[in-house]
Amino acid sequence: MLPSLAMNATPVEILISSPEIQQRIRELAAEIRRDLPGEDIHFICVLKGAFLFLADLVRAMDGGVTMDFMAMSSYGAGTTSSGEVRLVKDLDAGLEGRHVVIVEDIVDTGLTLHYLQDILRARGPKSLRTACLLSKPSRRQVDVQVEYVGFTIEDRFVVGFGLDYDEHHRNLPFIGVIA
Ligand code: 5GP
Repeated sequence: MLPSLAMNATPVEILISSPEIQQRIRELAAEIRRDLPGEDIHFICVLKGAFLFLADLVRAMDGGVTMDFMAMSSYGAGTTSSGEVRLVKDLDAGLEGRHVVIVEDIVDTGLTLHYLQDILRARGPKSLRTACLLSKPSRRQVDVQVEYVGFTIEDRFVVGFGLDYDEHHRNLPFIGVIA
């Protein structure tokens, strides 16, 4: 049985190329810095999907930056949401008095982000903003505020640049759809 080999061989069609992603991330970094000039910015990476976005975003940032990591339950081994949102790994440090930017891979129904924003707001940050690499507005079930959106996409299941299908494809340098 060679399931991972089979998965690695699955062709993925490019939807958003690596240079397009990198260019957009540089723009987002500049926008975030413009909104918080001279401030230390505390980035919260939502694992696992946002790890590459966070890594490139913070490397494109000027000025003081700190970061922390948390994990929420999301899709299981398939492509349909369970609708259930759970905190799986909490932050190491508090948020009181900090300028916080949540870094998410994709906002789909908005349920995960809505829950996350509520619990982080309750921890007393000086400001709370959200950056999402991707957004699927047609799928939204709850209204969530996202100040920085990388790309708006149609209702398609995407992989790559941190996003997985059954834990595969996160390493792709582009956003794609399974062909
Ligand atoms: P929401 O709570 O907004 O419905 O879902 C958010 C989470 O679902 C994302 O953080 C991501 O983990 C997962 N998700 C939503 N759409 C996609 C998609 O197209 N591809 C992948 N790989 N994950 C997705």
